Amino acid sequence: MMNHVTTTVAVFGSCNMDLVAYVGTAPKRGETVLGREFHTVPGGKGANQAIAAAKAGAAVRMIGAVGEDEFGAQIRDTLRKSTVDVTGVRTVPGRSGTAHIVVDDEGGNSIVVVPGANATVDGLADGDEELIAGSRSLLLQLEIPLPGVAAAAAAGRRNGVRVVLTPAPAVPLPAEILSNVDLLVPNEHEAAVLAGDDDPHRALAALLELVPEVLITLGARGSLYGNRDGARVEAPSFPVDAVDTTAAGDTFVGVLSAALGEGAEMPEALRLASAGAAVSVQRNGASSSMPTRQEITDFLASA
Ligand code: AMP
Repeated sequence: MMNHVTTTVAVFGSCNMDLVAYVGTAPKRGETVLGREFHTVPGGKGANQAIAAAKAGAAVRMIGAVGEDEFGAQIRDTLRKSTVDVTGVRTVPGRSGTAHIVVDDEGGNSIVVVPGANATVDGLADGDEELIAGSRSLLLQLEIPLPGVAAAAAAGRRNGVRVVLTPAPAVPLPAEILSNVDLLVPNEHEAAVLAGDDDPHRALAALLELVPEVLITLGARGSLYGNRDGARVEAPSFPVDAVDTTAAGDTFVGVLSAALGEGAEMPEALRLASAGAAVSVQRNGASSSMPTRQEITDFLASA
């Protein structure tokens, strides 16, 4: 069992407004389809992971940027309401990042991301190093410029903070970034792209040549963890009816980092993360679908 010590997590990454349309079947190129419903909800992999970790019980600091538009104010507000510290979220001229999401009847999604303010997060700003240094772990993704990711990873390593990278969207990763990553958390697709191998077990072995710890998420098939000491943990997913998998991976990483920071061993942290993601896929939306710690505990008690 875990002790309930609050851990501090820093997230250096993207803040978006998600513009979500629900359709029966997503349109193909050149096709127009009628949607059923539309809503806006703050997202971005950075903000999503921050909110997931905060709801799971961590003290979270978000570092990033929003635009001077109404979306920026809404994103900030949602982060604050989820108890995320927004001292490191800067407001810059121009538009906030937006994600244009189509969710189909099977709960699958396709997404266009327009970076907006996220494109300005290309290095450390005043105060960022302190926010990172005082944290147990640092969560990174690839929705901001790579020099920003590199600078944050280096700051994490310099300060003895566990650096966790979600390599999404999948792009070739500079050695400069990988050398400062402790735990890499790709999904199946990203793992295949980065490792050049479709088989998760072989991809895991290949990625362990690059970083000390790797966790591959496999959607409804669960997740696979390994480290350079030879440890392997396979965590099944919980069988649920998925309606929207938009932020399953971000929920998973946020809950995982909260649990690891509290001192949970990897198998227990994976169980909590899988449960958190299972709750989130049963609800529509991204950050709005993320469970509180109590909801995760209740789900596990009834699973
Ligand atoms: P993904 O990013 O799709 O690989 O999902 C991350 C994690 O969310 C997985 O490792 C599962 O634990 C959980 N998850 C994703 N999809 C489902 C689903 N359809 N049912 C239950 N859990 C899921």
